[in-house]
Amino acid sequence: MPLPPLETTSPIAWQYTAEGGANLVVSFAGPADSPFSGHALRLRKRKKRAGGVKGGEDAVPSEVDVEFGARIIAPLLGEANVVVMEKVPLSRDWLEELVEDMRAQGVRPAEREAEDEVDLDTPEGVVVEDLIAGRGVIAVEIKVRSAESFKCAVTDLTWLRQPKWGFLPSPTHLSPSTASMKTTYCRTCMHRHYKASDGEGSDGFCPLDLYSGNSARVHKALEQLYGSWMSSEGGINNLRIFLDGKKVLPGNVSIASSFVSRAVRLTPACLQADQASPLDYALDHLTTSGPPASPISRASLFAHALAPTLLRTPALPLLRELQSLLDVLDIEGLASLLSRTTGVDLARHFGPEEVQKLGGQPRLDEWIEWVGRYSPLLGRQQGGESSPLSHEEWDQSKATLESRFLASSTSDEGSPSPPWRDAILAYLLSATFKDCSLIIRLPLDSAASTVGTVKAIDLDPKPMNRLGKYWRMDREIVECWKERLERMEAVGRAGEVRQCREG
Ligand SMILES: [Zn+2]
Repeated sequence: MPLPPLETTSPIAWQYTAEGGANLVVSFAGPADSPFSGHALRLRKRKKRAGGVKGGEDAVPSEVDVEFGARIIAPLLGEANVVVMEKVPLSRDWLEELVEDMRAQGVRPAEREAEDEVDLDTPEGVVVEDLIAGRGVIAVEIKVRSAESFKCAVTDLTWLRQPKWGFLPSPTHLSPSTASMKTTYCRTCMHRHYKASDGEGSDGFCPLDLYSGNSARVHKALEQLYGSWMSSEGGINNLRIFLDGKKVLPGNVSIASSFVSRAVRLTPACLQADQASPLDYALDHLTTSGPPASPISRASLFAHALAPTLLRTPALPLLRELQSLLDVLDIEGLASLLSRTTGVDLARHFGPEEVQKLGGQPRLDEWIEWVGRYSPLLGRQQGGESSPLSHEEWDQSKATLESRFLASSTSDEGSPSPPWRDAILAYLLSATFKDCSLIIRLPLDSAASTVGTVKAIDLDPKPMNRLGKYWRMDREIVECWKERLERMEAVGRAGEVRQCREG
């Protein structure tokens, strides 16, 4: 349904909800009968720093940014697992008033405010379905990525952004020095153990558990996430919980009782189970006016409330499949392919000149053409529902993609691009799928809906100039991790290091 102009709404009816590196999101909090009710508006940001050129080095063409979700992501991940977006024209006066109101309310984090601002010159914004809004709705955002920084003791460099991958790479394209590490421990765990060695806490959370499809492991992962959320007083970056459209912090009584009602409805069997179960313990304390349940009990409630939805959604297996199939060469295999065929070495300087040599940042028509050729190889039917591949289909897709990317010449009649270029686009897409967030929406009051919905968000295209950074980051993490394992071995504690396991 086409929306009326934004100017028909008051700018102060839009309330700040969140922001990422490139965008800021405000939610409509105006009259419930407005066509914008239940929607959010995504606004593009620009850097404040002096000399920052608009559309600078990290730029993805804006036409790609807006259409990318509908034309590229939705056909691969499935319409049902992404949010519908609509472009809307923005007027500068309206936007200025909105920005002024946000400033007066002081809603943006100070470090963000210092760094960037809403781009008042953007002609368009994007209206999306608001997954967080709604009375009687619990919305849980799990960042499949985290935006923490970490410092490597070996090279003394600081890295930002550690995507949380749902898979382990296959050893085929890995170098002998990294293969055993990278196929035993997942990215997140290597990163976390590294941090733990710095004296920071370790919650034991492994994203492979969350993606495993195994009930016990999904419960465990959710309990660990919730436990960290509690102990960090809501400060951890990878879990946010909203009730009635508002962010809640640990200790909020209504969210705890909401999880109880949710968990009770979903898992009546738990109530008959032995009295010592954490769920019963929590119920005892929450339904009487006694002391609050212990953190572990609430964590268990949280897991009971969310797990059935996460176990049923195709979004997680599909994401994991796309992350891994599109990264079939690993960054190591991609680097050697590019150096062999184009002479561009990701390990050396990788700047604008190298990006140009590799064909430049993909434009929308190139992405569309690529998806047209590759979605059947990924098991996606045109216009059909996306469902995860069977083991056999997955193996077959993996082998086909590998041989396509590594072919010495274009095997595909009419393919406009060389195989190495196809491999670059695949890798960039895989980076997008590794860097998204999930929103789990659980209605409390509807008797009919026993299971909530899961949608993936923040699926923005990645700029090609990051390829060099991806290569270096991969090397760093493995080096740091290796160093830590050797230290653990030296003191006879290697057995304490948990290995990661795929589903
Ligand atoms: Zn792991």
